[in-house]
Amino acid sequence: MAAPEIPTEQWAQVLEKTGGPVVYKKIPVQKPGPDEVLINVKYSGVCHTDLHAVMGDWPLSTKIPLVGGHEGAGVVVARGELVDNIEIGDHAGIKWLNGSCLHCTYCRQAHEPLCTKPLLSGYTVDGSFQQYAIAKAAHVARIPKEVSLEAIAPVLCAGITVYKGLKKSHARPGQTVAIVGAGGGLGNMALQYAKAMGLHTIAIDGGEAKEKACKELGAQAFVDFTKSKDIVADVKAASPDGLGPHAVILLAVSEGPFQQAADYVRPFGTIICIGLPANAYIKAPVFSTVIKMIKIKGSYVGNRQDTEEAIDFFARGLIKCPYKVVGLSELQSVYDMMADMKIVGRYVVDTSR
Ligand code: NAD
Ligand code: ZN
Repeated sequence: MAAPEIPTEQWAQVLEKTGGPVVYKKIPVQKPGPDEVLINVKYSGVCHTDLHAVMGDWPLSTKIPLVGGHEGAGVVVARGELVDNIEIGDHAGIKWLNGSCLHCTYCRQAHEPLCTKPLLSGYTVDGSFQQYAIAKAAHVARIPKEVSLEAIAPVLCAGITVYKGLKKSHARPGQTVAIVGAGGGLGNMALQYAKAMGLHTIAIDGGEAKEKACKELGAQAFVDFTKSKDIVADVKAASPDGLGPHAVILLAVSEGPFQQAADYVRPFGTIICIGLPANAYIKAPVFSTVIKMIKIKGSYVGNRQDTEEAIDFFARGLIKCPYKVVGLSELQSVYDMMADMKIVGRYVVDTSR
């Protein structure tokens, strides 16, 4: 295949100071290092993590200036001289873990997200809110050519993360999982992966638009946190035998649910913490945690194997989540809607406009 023409300049959304706003402007296109690829990003999902990065919500600093984004789907246009397992023209994805050392004790055991020297797309290195982005070849997601690049973009963080979380919950087919924050980007994906994995779901979020979307995506029940007078009782009542869900997947961007889940998960159940609200703490009563033998776990994106599995579910047509496409130039308005909790599902930006 003839080498594609790569421009020297490109459009990008750049965070110049923590708190924002992001600035839509032209910046230089970088060259990949020996073990890296350059991807012409066509579409990128907008994850709430990108907004946390803009707002400086977490006790981990970002690079500044920063190009955010870590759900970038596109085409490989250049590769370093050490790269021999992905071709120019292949479809590939930029995910949160842009690169890991592949050598530390965590990488050796396939716990790559725990790498002691991770490179994080759109956080510690520039990400996918630009037309040409760089990632370590070992870590870019391999995307089958028949798959739509705009539809798969949200799988690259949201999909992988919830799929991994559901696996770590050890909920078995036929059991019930509560998805908290089910109307958002990760939540919609979680409903679809859970359905594909044979699980019943109770969706928890707020508002009629989110209720409608959650039910269309397969939720058996919806508990509206903005209306419920007793969330614990309502979630238990929604489980088939009234004992509560076997697992809870916490995706909400607020602290409340992290302090409630232990009260409605069933005995021997598992709580998976994924959402990362600013300055938040998890709380559970010691007495009932012990006598109910509850497990509380953190779950952080996924490794390369999880990535391949999550993409395989999607490529088989099992995951169909709604998304809206807008131009990359409109990114700030997506952040504004996200901050107001107005987004149902995911927004995907098209880098050509
Ligand atoms: P989102 O804004 O699309 O969705 C969050 C949802 O939470 C919204 O629908 C909102 O209405 C809902 N919500 C808020 N308060 C609630 C409450 N009290 N009860 C129930 N629902 C409530 O965000 P997203 O992109 O889906 O990301 C969710 C969170 O997951 C973010 O904090 C993000 O940083 C984090 N995240 C973590 C990982 C990881 O690896 N652990 C990976 C990706 C994203
Ligand atoms: Zn993300």
